[in-house]
Amino acid sequence: MSRAEPILAYGSGMAFARRGGSLALRSKVSRLLGEGGHSISFEFFPPKDSDAEDALWGALIQLEDFDPSFVSVTYGAGGSTRDRTIDITSSIGRRTSLTTIAHLTCVGSSRAELHEVIDGYSEAGIENVLALRGDPEGGLGVPWVSHPDGLDHAIQLVEMLRERGDFCVGVAAFPEGHPESASLEQDARVLADKQRAGAEFAITQFFFRADDWFGLRDRAEAAGCTMPILPGIMPVTNLAQIKRFSALSGAEFPAALAARFETVADDPAAVRALGVEVATQLCEALLDGGAPGLHFYTLNRSSATREVYRNLMGRPDLERH
Ligand SMILES: Cc1cc2nc3c(=O)[nH]c(=O)nc-3n(C[C@H](O)[C@H](O)[C@H](O)COP(=O)(O)OP(=O)(O)OC[C@H]3O[C@@H](n4cnc5c(N)ncnc54)[C@H](O)[C@@H]3O)c2cc1C
Repeated sequence: MSRAEPILAYGSGMAFARRGGSLALRSKVSRLLGEGGHSISFEFFPPKDSDAEDALWGALIQLEDFDPSFVSVTYGAGGSTRDRTIDITSSIGRRTSLTTIAHLTCVGSSRAELHEVIDGYSEAGIENVLALRGDPEGGLGVPWVSHPDGLDHAIQLVEMLRERGDFCVGVAAFPEGHPESASLEQDARVLADKQRAGAEFAITQFFFRADDWFGLRDRAEAAGCTMPILPGIMPVTNLAQIKRFSALSGAEFPAALAARFETVADDPAAVRALGVEVATQLCEALLDGGAPGLHFYTLNRSSATREVYRNLMGRPDLERH
């Protein structure tokens, strides 16, 4: 996705209450990913009001039952959720045994302001950060204008995070290539460079064709990138919403798939059921093809993600995650 809530929700995470129930047992994501098996993770966005916060906690509690590897919390476009991202990420850390990742973007911030946020993450006990550039203030398609004393690319934020604290740093990856990338190969080289700068894992934009993720994995490997690249899964629950998200993020909603959804467009329950079926098939293809885990864009709701995950239960490769 290309922009944080309220338009798009960025976030994800790994939780492990049942894995020990103690704060001391929470880990850096890199360690969890290195344990073998497949990771399962969920992304959330910071709630705007108390009703939204109740919904978020409801979703978190239900998804915690799946013993996820981590959960992540997005950072609003232009830094708009800065304090809420810190608050909700540290609150999840305090109130659950989930391992958390806080997102952070460069948009509209000076280096000094980024230092302040990073120090805030450290003070709040946040150990895992997803380092992102963010979209240009006018959205994708509008030229990127950096803050006069800011950063231009996520790789610089990776370096800053690694220099300033003891963080495990993740980055974004794009199965169809980032819309501003000159080529898919250049896009993969950027990912490999982010690893060289200190990134330890990547999470992808949502996508609908397993082959796009396989292509990214192969290009990344050819460029020297060895870190886990977790596929981002967005179960379709609402046709208008997914079209909007696709337009905002540059991720294609393939025409053949859109045509299948159009046949049931007047029936929200059928759209949702098809969305769960399509996401389940995508997850199966990815796992069969060697994906190291699955990262679900939950939009702060748990039911579709739970249905997809239930459909996958029983797979031996998901027994340990
Ligand atoms: C998993 C995930 C989570 C996200 N969470 C959020 C969020 O919480 N909040 C939010 O606002 N946005 C979020 N985004 C959206 C993201 O900020 C946008 O997609 C943004 O446009 C690109 O971010 P990036 O970190 O990939 O940027 P970059 O890595 O800087 O890449 C941006 C473009 O610049 C190119 N590039 C990178 N480095 C160089 C270089 N050194 N020289 C030349 N070109 C270069 C890349 O190829 C790419 O085309 C998320 C995206 C994903 C996939």
